Amino acid sequence: MGIDLPDHLLHVLQGGLNLRQEGYRGRFAPTPSGPLHLGNLRTALLSWLRARLENGQWLLRIDDLDTLRIRPGSIESLLQDLRWLGLSWDGPFFLQSSRRGLYSSFLSVMRRQGYLYPCRCSRRQLDGVRIYPGTCRFLNQDWGLRDARLPAWRLRVVEPFSTSVGDVILRRADGVIGYHMATAMDELALGITEVVRGQDLASVCAAQRAVITCVGMASPHYGHVPLLCDSSGRKLSKRNHASGLDPLRDQGEASEQVVGTLAASLGLVPPGSSLSALELLEELRMRQDLLTSLIADADSSGKLRDLSQKIPPK
Ligand SMILES: [Zn+2]
Repeated sequence: MGIDLPDHLLHVLQGGLNLRQEGYRGRFAPTPSGPLHLGNLRTALLSWLRARLENGQWLLRIDDLDTLRIRPGSIESLLQDLRWLGLSWDGPFFLQSSRRGLYSSFLSVMRRQGYLYPCRCSRRQLDGVRIYPGTCRFLNQDWGLRDARLPAWRLRVVEPFSTSVGDVILRRADGVIGYHMATAMDELALGITEVVRGQDLASVCAAQRAVITCVGMASPHYGHVPLLCDSSGRKLSKRNHASGLDPLRDQGEASEQVVGTLAASLGLVPPGSSLSALELLEELRMRQDLLTSLIADADSSGKLRDLSQKIPPK
């Protein structure tokens, strides 16, 4: 016996399955917390190339649930940057903030059927803890306010995911929908067949697979690409103020030069190349193995279909 979903949620999942059957569907899902740096853009380029080489769809989803991290103007600037590089997305882009109702509906069902439990561990208690030890799993706590705080909600994660992630938070104590919850549900609802993202996100696969398995579905294929590092070998991040496109544009660089530099950094074209994203796509049509070799396979999703055992409701 697995989770029992109401018709309107089954309909959402069925819609995603139907889309998956139409062919390849990839996506790029930036967080609007500042300008996209060159590392983000290189990942976007690879994800776009993959979708286009597969004659598939490439969706753009803005992961804007964590409103405290959002910087004003970031969405407009990332749309502009992708367009400037020639990375066109299919259909309208999706805002996670407009999909909260969907995530909440799934969370309600999961909670009612015993797949979630409230956790009141403080940040201090969890300081330095990599995998949540399940402190609150068997406490049978109430859900109300205590010391003016609501609990977070965790998924009862089962084997084989529990050893690598522990019980992940699907709704935070401040009410924000957890990253893994929203991401996992969107891959399903939007019919994503393959996620191509940075290697730094390889560690979140297990958490997202745990959510997807909980609702009885098969994961998309996950592929991870190398991160762009600076000259001292540090990966670029918004935190270390890695620069975006604006300084390059200010210096008069053309988008073809930027695409050439990003592609050359992965050995897709010779150093010094200058070409549009579409020209790069044409170059790679005959040499798809070059791109494939850059996408590390994070275990195939096919295996998941055999793991139909469900989390036992409490
Ligand atoms: Zn706890």
